[in-house]
Amino acid sequence: MGRIIAVANQKGGVGKTTTSINLSSCLAAKGKKVLAIDMDPQGNMTSGLGIDKDGVEKTVYDLIIGQATIEEVLCKEALENLDVLPTNIDLSGAEIELIGVENKEFIIRDEVNKIRDNYDFVIIDCPPSLSMLTINAMTTADTVLVPIQCEYYALEGLSQLIHTIELVRERLNPLLEMEGVVFTMYDARTNLSLQVVENVKDNLQQRIYKTIIPRNIRLAEAPSHGLPINIYDPKSTGAESYMLLADEVIAREEEE
Ligand code: ATP
Ligand code: MG
Repeated sequence: MGRIIAVANQKGGVGKTTTSINLSSCLAAKGKKVLAIDMDPQGNMTSGLGIDKDGVEKTVYDLIIGQATIEEVLCKEALENLDVLPTNIDLSGAEIELIGVENKEFIIRDEVNKIRDNYDFVIIDCPPSLSMLTINAMTTADTVLVPIQCEYYALEGLSQLIHTIELVRERLNPLLEMEGVVFTMYDARTNLSLQVVENVKDNLQQRIYKTIIPRNIRLAEAPSHGLPINIYDPKSTGAESYMLLADEVIAREEEE
């Protein structure tokens, strides 16, 4: 049975979506069967994987309000080995729709359980908030992967995130684990990036991925072409590092 990884950090702009898109795509390129789930109403993972988010018939929103089956929402083979549950701005209404709904924390889990056996990995891109959408991702997930941007305020909000993960584990998903931390937007030209990495390593008792994602302009460009980095520019440092991250994620599976 595959591993379900929620990519979460309530801090905005730290590289959640970039990591979700490119980790999904690199795992798929390595022959793994991958399902990518976009839980952010911004829909950037959906468009970044080449799907016209406003053109799709059914989205995660329809799934949440019970207006579509998971099979109806699924975009099959958006890339080789990669299926997507797409999202657009409609999802921003979900929070309100869920008020008073029984078992609202488990809607996505119950749907994904119907198809998870088809996949080696499920990657969930979370919104920059600790909302009901993030909770749904965390009840679905086996692990939470936390991207940390190499900047001065990197650790801000992290204790709140870890507390949320603990609460979800205690009350909703006893098997939830921390996948680990991945550093993003590392700038080798500044001491600051290095200091942030050292500081987090000293202060955070979490697994830290060896692969550090550098700041790379190609990573920022790729989404406007609807392509993941390993297809947009396979020789870029961004592509190389997400390929290495995928290797590490796979290796962890084999460790267990
Ligand atoms: P949000 O909280 O809004 O969902 P996010 O955490 O998903 O944001 P991204 O959208 O992945 O963050 O990244 C924020 C911005 O930084 C984007 O414009 C993205 O293209 C850019 N970016 C992310 N990672 C890198 C990188 N390694 N090198 C250069 N640019 C990057
Ligand atoms: Mg995002």
